[in-house]
Amino acid sequence: MSIFPPLEIPNTLAAGPGPGNTDPRVLQRFAQSGVADHMQKDVLRGMVEAKKMLRTAFGTQNVYTYGVGGTGFSGLDCVFSMILPGDKVVAFANGTFSGIDGQSIRMKASTREELAANPIDPQPESVTIVNVAHGQSVSGDIVEAALAEHKPMWAFMAHWETGSGRINDLQGFNDACAKHGVMGIVDAVSSLGVADYDIDAYPAVVAWASCPQKGILSLPLTYAPVSFRDEAIEVVKQRGAYTYVHHPVLEGRHWGIVDGKDVDAGGYHRTHSGYAIAAFHEALRILLTHGRAQKAADYEYHEKALRQAVQAMGCEVTSNMTSLLVLNLPGDLAGREKELVGGCRAEGFGIWPTLSEPVQVRIGILNQLTVEAITEIAGLFADAMLKMGANFNKDEIMNQLKAYYTG
Ligand SMILES: *Cc1c(COP(=O)(O)O)cnc(C)c1O
Repeated sequence: MSIFPPLEIPNTLAAGPGPGNTDPRVLQRFAQSGVADHMQKDVLRGMVEAKKMLRTAFGTQNVYTYGVGGTGFSGLDCVFSMILPGDKVVAFANGTFSGIDGQSIRMKASTREELAANPIDPQPESVTIVNVAHGQSVSGDIVEAALAEHKPMWAFMAHWETGSGRINDLQGFNDACAKHGVMGIVDAVSSLGVADYDIDAYPAVVAWASCPQKGILSLPLTYAPVSFRDEAIEVVKQRGAYTYVHHPVLEGRHWGIVDGKDVDAGGYHRTHSGYAIAAFHEALRILLTHGRAQKAADYEYHEKALRQAVQAMGCEVTSNMTSLLVLNLPGDLAGREKELVGGCRAEGFGIWPTLSEPVQVRIGILNQLTVEAITEIAGLFADAMLKMGANFNKDEIMNQLKAYYTG
């Protein structure tokens, strides 16, 4: 047996798809929270307040709006738990995350025989995965055609596919679901807290799931926001779900949601963390104080600055999200993406490659909404490219960036 020294983790520049650069205020709330159990009155009050702020962040009146303890996939597991074996589902995949969501949906919808035939990656009869090429968006026409053909009970799409940096057509998805009487489920992991939208404007989408550490900018592993329309909750009440911990109805209880109504304080469902609640609560306060619309405008403004800078370095940007650039390196550096990203990461500049083919570079700006932060990211990326032999004049690029910001 060995005992290791205390774990030291350095400060790095989180400039990837997420987790974002955690706000010091969030870390401070986390670290300053007293030792209190999960039924202490301020912890319970914090949960009720966080639930109410989360409704504003989502733009919803949905009573069943709360956080699921864990990561983004925990929230997604909670919403996917509505899907029972044999349910007919159409899921759209255009990158790493919607691909994994599709796998998760296939696990839920499989019969026992289908699961046994391929336990890790089942291929149930009742699920159709519509693959859209990496680098392209899921369009309303694609959704409409698939729903018209298959007439499923559920349809699934990622709003912003972080694997390829593409925004998918939420309005088109909603409209096709409404037209064909299909219940929509959306992965809003990357868009919540970055884009300015009200989920109540998309009534055919009956369930939404997001994550703690991207647009919401709470600590990872705190709370994954979810929201269910009453129609979805009715389905769960009638049919049940094969889970206790991620049960859409039961999981609401600790947040003070009982029998479709808000109550003053929640009751025990599982042991929540006062530290996690404090972090989540502060992150929501920061988002709402900044203002959803202002924050979305700030992302647009700074993404454009960084996009122009990397294009001037010869990169081709294939994404259209406002929190993330996904790009191809110029011809002479093509094929060396992993080497470049590895070199940056080794020096604490935390950019990312894509996690599924084709290999591209991802640079994110979550919580980097200042001239100084974008200038630092552009400068570090320029240095890394030059080190690998790229051919451009860094001063010229930094001057152009300065000119963008000084208008
Ligand atoms: C990051 C991400 C996920 C997974 O979130 P985790 O917090 O890593 O579980 C799922 N979907 C999308 C679109 C994402 O961007």
